[in-house]
Order: sequence, then structure tokens, then C-alpha cells
Amino acid sequence: MEFDVIVIGGGSAGSAAAARLAADPKLSVCLIEAGGRNDDVFVRTPGFLAFMPKRSNWAYDTEPMDALNGRIGYQPRGRGLGGSSAINGMVYIRGNRWDYDNWAALGCTGWGWDDVLPVFRRQEGNERGGDALHGGEGPLNVADQRSPSPVGQAFVDAANQLQIPRNDDFNGPSQEGMGHYQVTQKDGQRWSTARAFLDPLAGRSNLTVLTATLVEKIVIENGRATGVAIQRGGRSQIVTARGGVVLSAGAFGSPQILMLSGIGAGAHLAQHGIPVVRDTPAVGADLQDHCDYLVGYDLDDPTLFGASLRGMWAMVKGWIEHRRHGTGLLTTNFAESGGFVTIRPDAPAPDLQFHFMRAIIQNHGRDKVRGHGFSLHVCVLRPESRGWVRLNSADPAAAPAINPNFLSDERDMALLRDGAKLMHRIAATPPMSQLGARERNPVDYHDDAALEARIRAVSDTIYHPVGTCRMGPDADDVVDPTLALRGIEGLWVADASIMPRLISGNTNAPSIMIGERCGDFVRASLQAA
Ligand SMILES: Cc1cc2nc3c(=O)[nH]c(=O)nc-3n(C[C@H](O)[C@H](O)[C@H](O)COP(=O)(O)OP(=O)(O)OC[C@H]3O[C@@H](n4cnc5c(N)ncnc54)[C@H](O)[C@@H]3O)c2cc1C
Repeated sequence: MEFDVIVIGGGSAGSAAAARLAADPKLSVCLIEAGGRNDDVFVRTPGFLAFMPKRSNWAYDTEPMDALNGRIGYQPRGRGLGGSSAINGMVYIRGNRWDYDNWAALGCTGWGWDDVLPVFRRQEGNERGGDALHGGEGPLNVADQRSPSPVGQAFVDAANQLQIPRNDDFNGPSQEGMGHYQVTQKDGQRWSTARAFLDPLAGRSNLTVLTATLVEKIVIENGRATGVAIQRGGRSQIVTARGGVVLSAGAFGSPQILMLSGIGAGAHLAQHGIPVVRDTPAVGADLQDHCDYLVGYDLDDPTLFGASLRGMWAMVKGWIEHRRHGTGLLTTNFAESGGFVTIRPDAPAPDLQFHFMRAIIQNHGRDKVRGHGFSLHVCVLRPESRGWVRLNSADPAAAPAINPNFLSDERDMALLRDGAKLMHRIAATPPMSQLGARERNPVDYHDDAALEARIRAVSDTIYHPVGTCRMGPDADDVVDPTLALRGIEGLWVADASIMPRLISGNTNAPSIMIGERCGDFVRASLQAA
């Protein structure tokens, strides 16, 4: 097993990176993925999210978080081709142009908005068509929702009543405002990166895709990545990379694999008996994620998901409609509407994001809730809190230790508290207030202490961890602005982990953009060699 380039992880970034590399017929590319093909009906049908097979999710628990009363959080991560794009909420958001200009200002030359926009446009196949900000022909299908709930519309209308503007395109000229999210779907089906980038390459002789293959570590010889140690079919073996290795195992998987390969904080590696190849304390540091406060509402409305006989019947009807027409309840991405609001006058870009969910999401949907309803969510877009990822063990099959450290910085709590108040005001404004929905666990929004206690009791991730292999201009940053790992030849990192700062929005499209750019960087480097 010998290839020019090996890509580790077939997720959002890894699929795009592998496709970009394999577009060069002279390169032989191997994509290695721990999970399976992920092409079953539960993955393809958006509304079956609650029935997603366990094998498609790494389903990590976090360490106890101090500012959340010592609670253990949950971090779902996709496992299988498509990675987290195969289990996510399908919201298509790139972030704010300020985010990328800020990356460039931090020293990440070549990552300003004008640099990344052409890549977003090239990848995007927006069903509304292309224009100066959008692509209409790319492989990543982006669609308007086919059958959104009227309750999500009421949320948008109520926000408009409070002078929050209507926005029909969050990736357009302005991010500010409320509306319906566009989704990565095609014909009412989930459009994961496996479908967008890998399926069109099926049968290509220069792309080998190995599923059910766990990467143990990267093989580094004389300061150069020369291959990958894998477990496959119960056997350990080495796959050789003549040109290099691209690591796209995600914000938790990539730092874990680097540490298992001897790249990380030296003292921490020594604790686990791992020989230090390069002492790089930034590996696993700087974890940033969107901390989300949510409120559940009971509402006896069969257009909302719910555990009831009527709910089951709606699912059956929805399934038939979905199969026949690709419309109806099962096209929902759950996070149907919402948007972006700036509440701090000095913020350079919106500082809060809202999501209306078409179901009562309790404990990440893992608690079964009786009756119908919805939940409202608000998160802090550019948190100050920083967490970490470390090893629990030198066993590559063991879960890493993850601590997002949510709300450890008081500024995040203050912003989230103000966001929770605004969300409550929207819910109390017509037409939302006229629906007759009942808040599940009412709290006094005038009592800051009570509200903060509630926030600490219920908040957790809205699934956007980044930053654990940060890109930057300095010797202590993990990768340089061409995503090459500092100090090791022939090794690149390309996924959400390289973001030096969390972007102001959902992280799938940015991760895909990062993957594709890395494909270009690697090709340029191999050509120059
Ligand atoms: C539940 C959920 C909902 C979300 N909703 C949205 C949304 O609506 N919109 C949005 O924009 N973003 C959303 N996100 C976030 C977005 O999907 C992620 O930011 C993005 O997919 C990250 O891409 P990635 O390439 O960094 O990692 P991933 O897509 O997670 O890919 C990493 C891949 O590496 C593989 N891997 C890891 N370790 C190994 C190993 N040792 N050996 C072999 N393979 C390995 C994994 O199995 C996985 O396939 C959501 C995420 C989740 C989990």
C-alpha cells in the first residue's frame, strides 16, 4: 500500500481535500476513514436525525466543566464518510467576512475574505444561482428549505417586530438579521461532503478510499511524514506516503493523532509513554466552541416533531411524502430558522446567533420528550473562553479527553445572558406570543442571578469546536498559513482544528473550504519539489 498522498479522515474537510488532490490524475491518493460508508437511509433523510445509527457518531463526553457546575457535556462528531457533515444540521453558513480578514490580520497571510471567497464560490452549487458572492455550479448543493414549519416563520416575524431585519441570505452582502437558513441538501436529501465530493469520483483509479480503518499514528522518519500506521480488519499495518500526509480527523481527532505521533506538549506525551518527536504545546490547546443556551417550549402543533401517536402518524405520512416528492416533514434540518444579531455596539460583526429548532431538543435530543414543541437557541459567536483536548491514553481507540471550558470567561456569560433576554423578548412578541406555547422551565429574566444559574445548568455546545491545531505565523503555532505542520516535512493539517479564531457562524462550509485549499497547497508543494 503505497500512495503519493494519504488523507486521514473522510469528513467535511478530508473529502474536499482528497477530491481536490485526486483531480490531478498524476497523483495517487488514499483516503482513510475510521467509520463506514454512511450511505444508508437514516443518514440521507434529513428528518431521521434522531434515528442516526450509533456507528456514525463518535459521541464523546467531555470532562466536567467548572463554569457549568461541573457538568459533563456532550460532543457528537461524525464517523464515516462525510464525517460531521453526515450527522449535522445542514445549515449552510460561511461566517462573516470580518472573521477571515481577522485571520489575515493575525498573520495568516492568504486567508482574508478576498482570498477565501473564490473557494467558497467554486464549491457552492446554490440552487438560487450564482452571483458575485455565490457559486451556482459547484458540487456542494445548497438549497432553500422545501417544507419549513410555520412556527419557525413566526419566530422570524416576531424578531422583525423588534426591528431585527429580515435576512433571506446570510451569506449575502449582510449577515445581520433573521430568516430561514439555506441547507446543504439536494432533492430534499442530506448533501454530505461524501455525496458532494467523493461520489462523483467513484471508479477513479487514482483515489483509493479505505473505510473501517482506524489511524493509529503518523509515521515520521528523519523529520518527515512517510506514512500512516493503521488498524484494518483486526491487523496493524503501515500505508506509505511518497509525497505527504494530510491530517483531516477533525477538531478532536487531529490533535489526538498528532499527540499519538509524538507531536504535542512534551510533558503530556511523556505521561503516556509516547516518545516526543516535536514539543508543540499548541496541539490540543485553544479549543473554541459555540456555547449554546436553549429553552424548550411545549406546543400542541403536529407540524412540530413530538413523541405522540399523532407524531408517529406524521412521521409515516412524512416518509411517504419524502419518498414520492422529496418534500414534507422529513426534509427538515431541525435548525430551520434563526439568524445573527449584534448587541455590543463595539462588535466588529454579529456577536450572537439564534436557532429555532423544530423539536424540543433536550440533552442534545438524547432525552425522549413527551408531546410536541420546539426549542429556541442562542449562542455567543466569538467566545473568549478556551478549552483543550488531551490524551486519556496512548491507545488510539480510546476517546480523547475534551474540555471546552464553556463560560470560563465572564465576558461570554454576560453576552449569553443578554442574548437569552433578547430571545425571551422575541418569544414574547407576536406572532410568536400568540401561538400559546408554554416555556418548559420558566425563569425570571429580570433576575440576572437566576438567569445565570439557568444558563450554567443547561448550556452546552452547538457543535462547532475548532482551534486545536491552530494556524498562525509564529513558531509556536501548529501549522503555517499553507497548513503545513511546523517542524515536520510532508505533513499538513486541514480541518476545523486549524481555525485560529472561531468564525461567526456554523463551521461546516468553512471546514470544507479549508480542505479544498489544502489540496491546492499540497499540489503546489509537490510540484515545486
Ligand atoms: C450534531 C452536529 C450538528 C452540526 N450542525 C451544523 C450545521 O448545521 N451547519 C454547519 O455548518 N456545521 C454544523 N456542524 C459542524 C460541522 O459539521 C463541523 O464543523 C464540520 O463537519 C467539521 O469538519 P472536519 O472536517 O473538521 O471534521 P469531521 O467532518 O468531523 O471529519 C473528521 C473525520 O475524521 C475521521 N477520523 C477521526 N479520527 C480518525 C482516526 N483515528 N482514523 C481514521 N479516521 C478518523 C472521522 O471519523 C471523521 O469522518 C455540526 C456538527 C455536529 C456534530
